[in-house]
Amino acid sequence: MAPTLIGTHPALTVLSEQERMFQETVRSFATAEIAPKSMAMDAAQAMDPGIVAQLFELGLMGIEVPEYLGGTGSDFFTSVLVVEELSRVDPAVGVLVDVQNTVVVKALLYWGSDEQKARYLTRLARDTVGAYALSEAGSGSDAFALATRARQVGDGWVLDGRKLWISNAMEAGLFIVFATVSPQDGYRGITAFLVDKDTDGLSVGRKEDKLGIRASSTCELVLENVRVGPGQVLGEVGKGYKVAIETLNEGRIGIGAQMIGLAQGALDHTVRYVREREQFGRSIGSFQGVQFQIAEMATEIEAARLLVYNAARLKDSGEPFLAQAAMAKLYSSEVAQRVASRCIDLFGGYGFTRDYPVEKLYRDAKVGTIYEGTSNMQKQTIAKMLLK
Ligand SMILES: Cc1cc2nc3c(=O)[nH]c(=O)nc-3n(C[C@H](O)[C@H](O)[C@H](O)COP(=O)(O)OP(=O)(O)OC[C@H]3O[C@@H](n4cnc5c(N)ncnc54)[C@H](O)[C@@H]3O)c2cc1C
Repeated sequence: MAPTLIGTHPALTVLSEQERMFQETVRSFATAEIAPKSMAMDAAQAMDPGIVAQLFELGLMGIEVPEYLGGTGSDFFTSVLVVEELSRVDPAVGVLVDVQNTVVVKALLYWGSDEQKARYLTRLARDTVGAYALSEAGSGSDAFALATRARQVGDGWVLDGRKLWISNAMEAGLFIVFATVSPQDGYRGITAFLVDKDTDGLSVGRKEDKLGIRASSTCELVLENVRVGPGQVLGEVGKGYKVAIETLNEGRIGIGAQMIGLAQGALDHTVRYVREREQFGRSIGSFQGVQFQIAEMATEIEAARLLVYNAARLKDSGEPFLAQAAMAKLYSSEVAQRVASRCIDLFGGYGFTRDYPVEKLYRDAKVGTIYEGTSNMQKQTIAKMLLK
């Protein structure tokens, strides 16, 4: 007797009607609106304000913000699809949307009071870019060694310190700032604060001159005697480490999405190019040596995509996803580097110039192994899960 089929699981890459609609909308927007501006934004090291306005209009800056707060009311997997599609065209735009949705909005959704959600999530969905200020000059991988201080004055707090590497800092209207209320307590002193851009004493400092994702602003954030009220603590005093860990655990799946989008974008350009470019009287795509390289890249991207989609779908279904998220980020950032590098090889000398987008994608790929936890930190997480 044939076994009864109790139920089948759809493949990870099979999208629901709503997911497909999002993907198509973002793909058309990225192709029509971002692609023509991408190289100029990279050269100017500046995000086009018109693009940021369009991201808000399309509902891409508050993907998981509930509809009653003016957001799109969708899920984490949709954020991943959006970041992938944007990064296929421009990973600098991809990371702006990624930071907004997967760490800033997420921290508020998980840890914000009803009052904070009503005040900030509505703005984040409508017109306010958010930034996430954890790292400092002396604390990167060892994030909880941060030195920014928060002192209680009356019922409020006074913040002093300098943050480094803060993505979206130039555009942001809201900063989630991590500070310690008691350095002697180590990670148990870390507290997250919601700080509006126009708060006295807060200023955006030096902007980094970077190798890649140059249109994405990465700046120092200076806090000098910044006074905030008690209502600006996000979550509990001394529980900021939880806010950071939980948002970054999830956020790094978004970086995985940025990297698979980037790799797919580079491969798409290359497939078009090898069809057209002729050497030895034939298109270079007709040589088996070239075809095999294309096949290997497509296979690696598909494997990375499955890791990213699986981690995101595990997250949305409430399953443990920590190791899978670390694997997704680790692997997809390596794939993005390998693929972008090989794509330049297949473009030959032209790939080494700014005439084609693969040169930019190659530069953009490098950051994937660094931010939201370096590759070594991802390996540490994976090994910890295996050896515990
Ligand atoms: C473009 C860009 C944007 C960023 N955006 C943000 C942002 O928006 N908000 C924010 O808070 N931060 C941001 N960051 C900071 C980023 O998260 C850190 O750069 C990252 O965590 C690494 O820290 P680090 O640069 O201090 O390197 P370090 O921690 O000094 O690491 C240097 C090297 O040592 C290795 N290493 C360190 N410790 C260990 C260990 N225990 N075992 C093995 N190897 C180890 C690392 O893997 C790495 O290879 C951004 C960084 C960049 C480059």
